[in-house]
Amino acid sequence: MPAPRIKDLRVIQLGGGGVNDSTVVKVVTDQDGLYGYGCATDTFPGGRTRLVAAAVEQYLKPLLVGRTTDRIEQIWQISYMSSYYKNDTILNCAIAGVCDALWDIKGRQAGMPVYQLVGGKCRDAADIYLHVNMGAQDPGRQLVENSMKLVDQGCRNLLVAMFLRDGAGDTLYGQPKFDDGSVPFDRDKETRKILRAFETFRKEMPAHIGLAVDVHSLLDTVRAVQFAKDVEPFRLFYCEDLLPPEESDHYRIIRQHCTTPLALGELWNNAHEWQPLVQERQIDYLRHHISHVGGFTAARKIAAYAENYQVRFAWHGAPNSPVGRMANLTLDLTCENFGFHEHIDYPSLVQDVFPGYAQIKDGYAWISEKPGWGIEVDEALAAKHPITDERPNEFRTRDGSVIQGTG
Ligand code: MG
Repeated sequence: MPAPRIKDLRVIQLGGGGVNDSTVVKVVTDQDGLYGYGCATDTFPGGRTRLVAAAVEQYLKPLLVGRTTDRIEQIWQISYMSSYYKNDTILNCAIAGVCDALWDIKGRQAGMPVYQLVGGKCRDAADIYLHVNMGAQDPGRQLVENSMKLVDQGCRNLLVAMFLRDGAGDTLYGQPKFDDGSVPFDRDKETRKILRAFETFRKEMPAHIGLAVDVHSLLDTVRAVQFAKDVEPFRLFYCEDLLPPEESDHYRIIRQHCTTPLALGELWNNAHEWQPLVQERQIDYLRHHISHVGGFTAARKIAAYAENYQVRFAWHGAPNSPVGRMANLTLDLTCENFGFHEHIDYPSLVQDVFPGYAQIKDGYAWISEKPGWGIEVDEALAAKHPITDERPNEFRTRDGSVIQGTG
C-alpha cells in the first residue's frame, strides 16, 4: 500500500472560557479517514498565537502538501531548514504541530499509541505535581490548608508559583497601578512571603510531600542567588526559572552557593543556551515547552542528550493543550530520565473539545491506550470559541522600571 500523502494542513485554535493559547495542527492525508493532530501551542502569557497559524498556513503548508507522511524526521528537517533564520518559537511551534500530527498518523496507521512506536514504556505512569496557591493574609496557613486538600486527593508533589499578582505593591506615588494599567511588583515582599510560608509548610506538612517553587524569572541576579540559598533548608525538589536565558551564566554561581536543585527551560528554545549548563551539571531539570523546541521529535533528542549527564526533565505543561500534554506524557513514560509531570486541571471547555485527555489518578498521570496520541478534537465546538487578542502583561518595579518575568 502506498504511503499516505499530506493533502492539507489546518489550524484549530481555541479561545474563551479561560483559554486563549491552544493551537492544534490537523494534518489531513489523501487516504480516507486518516488524519492526525499535533500541538503547536505558543503558550501563555504573551504567546503569538496568530503568528503560529500564519507560519503553518502560509509557510509550511505550501512546503509540505504532497509529501508522504511516513518520513517524520525528514519532514522535520525540511521544515526547520526552510528558514535561514532558525530557532524562533513561532516556527518551532508550527513544526511541532505538523510533525506531532505525523506521529499521531503513524500511530493511527499502526493501531498503537505513540509510546509503542518508540520502544514502549519504561514506567507505568508519570508522577505529577500540582500548583498550590497561598493566600495574601496568612500565606503559611493558607498554603498548608490548600496543600492538604491536594494531598488528600493523592498528590505527593506541590509547586508554588511566584506571580506578579501575588507580589502587587504600590507605585512610587502610592497608586495600585501605573497609567497604562500595569501593576508594580514588590520582589522583596513576595520572596519574604514565600519563605515564611515554606517554613510553615515544612513544620506542618508530612515530610514526604515534595515542594517546589517557580520564580518566573522575576528576581534580579543577586536576589536570585540569595533566594536559592534561602530556600535550601526547605529541601525543594526544584527551584524553577530563577533567571532568564540572558543570565544563564549565573547558574554556575548559584550552584557554588547552595544545593537547591535547579530547573529551567520553558523560556529556552535554543539548545545552545542550555547545553553548557547540562554538560557541567549546573542544573538538574530541563523544563522546555516542547512545542517551543519543535515538538516530540526534538524533545526526544533533548531528553537523550540530558540523560548522558544525569539531568532529568519535567516538561512545561500548558493547561489548555491536551494533545501537547499527551506528547509530554509519552516522553515521560518512554525516557529513562523523567522527573515530574506538570499537571494543571483542564477547564471544562478544553475537556469538551479534546476528549481522550490524560487521566489523573492517585497522583499519577496515565496515558491513553488508543492509537496515536489517543485524542480527538471537536472541531465544530472549537470553531465556536475563537481566540481573542490580548494585551501582553507588563511587569514593573514601583519606580516604573520594566522587569523580566511572567504571571
Ligand atoms: Mg514555569
